[in-house]
Amino acid sequence: MPPEEFRRHAHALVEWAAGYFEQIETHAVLAQVAPGDVRRALPDRAPEHPEPFEQVIADLDRIILPAATHWNHPGFFAYFAITGSAPGVLMDMVSSALNQQAMLWRTSPAATELEEVTLRWLARLMHLPDEIEGVIYDTASISTLHALAAAREVAVPDVRTRGLAGRDVPPLRVYCSEHAHSSVDKAVIALGLGHQALRRIPADDRFSMRVDALEAALSEDRAAGIRPVAIVATVGTTSSTSVDDVEAIAAIAKREQIWLHVDAAYAGVMAMVPEFAWIRAGLDQADSIVVNPHKWLFTPFDLSVLFTPRMDVIRQAFSLTPEYLKTPETGAVRNLMDTGVQLGRRFRALKLWAILRYFGAEGVRARLREHCRLAQLFASWVDEDPDFERVAPVPFSVVCFRAINAGQQQASPDLDAFNHAIIDRVNKTGEVFLSHTSLNGQIVIRLAVGNLRTEERHLRRAWALLREALAQHSSQAAPAL
Ligand SMILES: *Cc1c(COP(=O)(O)O)cnc(C)c1O
Repeated sequence: MPPEEFRRHAHALVEWAAGYFEQIETHAVLAQVAPGDVRRALPDRAPEHPEPFEQVIADLDRIILPAATHWNHPGFFAYFAITGSAPGVLMDMVSSALNQQAMLWRTSPAATELEEVTLRWLARLMHLPDEIEGVIYDTASISTLHALAAAREVAVPDVRTRGLAGRDVPPLRVYCSEHAHSSVDKAVIALGLGHQALRRIPADDRFSMRVDALEAALSEDRAAGIRPVAIVATVGTTSSTSVDDVEAIAAIAKREQIWLHVDAAYAGVMAMVPEFAWIRAGLDQADSIVVNPHKWLFTPFDLSVLFTPRMDVIRQAFSLTPEYLKTPETGAVRNLMDTGVQLGRRFRALKLWAILRYFGAEGVRARLREHCRLAQLFASWVDEDPDFERVAPVPFSVVCFRAINAGQQQASPDLDAFNHAIIDRVNKTGEVFLSHTSLNGQIVIRLAVGNLRTEERHLRRAWALLREALAQHSSQAAPAL
């Protein structure tokens, strides 16, 4: 594409993206298409002859936008609400334009050192100890996989050479709470420990890992000849955003001499905010911590950070330099290919660097506080309404609640089905998008605030739609007498 043509299309697409942001509320949050719609709208072979780029751009409006679920929409309250903020979007374009492949320092000194600087900034904002080093991966799942690979390296020092099968290694075990994220399961599976190596510890009534149950599990397993490898504590669980007692768990990990990984994918950024200093307790004792700027730090997907004071163990587990990648600087510089499985790295630090500069730490803190305020406000409406009940504390920006009044006519209403029906009804409006989880064996509605465009009016609308759905559904669900 000649530069003049590039310039023309680039300007058109900037207009397109700016218009998309301006008009975001005209789109249905949750894509209202049926499975196969996108596939059927497209030919099943790539074009034999060049097509005008205008036609590609036209298909964005015709096919892509209607089939996109709009994570940028202020009514997005499902899972964890996120934001692809403009400074991040712009820098992602620059990242593609520069097309850096930062496997070695010399293949991109800029990406290698900007990652180091930006993660140092983030670590200092989160009040993490100075000896901590960071590395960027795509997602928390991969950050956790690398953390547990390091834990395995420590527990079985020759695992890199000899593997785990057919040898003198006892069964290995990893511990996490019953509310820990499924990425921990996937990590033990991928690392060859076997899914049964993951022991999920029961939680208390605030959904935090029971430390006494963890202690009991460890001594039971030690007595049975099992070798504990790691404990995964969570700061901000995925279902209810509960927080494990990292300080107490760290003391146990230290005594047992096993790796402590802290999954703070969502809530870790709150360590920046002074009122939330309590979540920092024990983080200085962790062997690794994952935090996702693509979750609650306005960074376009994807960008996850693994912090660890023991990056040497990750390097020990994975570094490998074939002849064709040896450079005169080897040893004197940090080569990103040494800190994990993947060789090539793209220039992700650029967007986080720009975001921290554009908003400034105060700007970031103010927005995080506002999201927490909105969640508290929504929780207060739930608490005041006899037709709903709140099911979990709201430490951050997520509210878990359920409808409990399914209409008087039903003798023993199936509240799980009723809550699913309410969520469906609200989501079909296209104005908001809510998701669910299960707590105490019950289906609950989850409302997550985290998008920069979300204002109080969007929460008021979500609440009104929930009230309407409850009223309509209760009357419809009533049996005809
Ligand atoms: C979202 C989340 C993850 C997974 O994040 P990805 O980046 O999508 O892999 C892991 N742990 C917790 C606690 C999460 O909330």
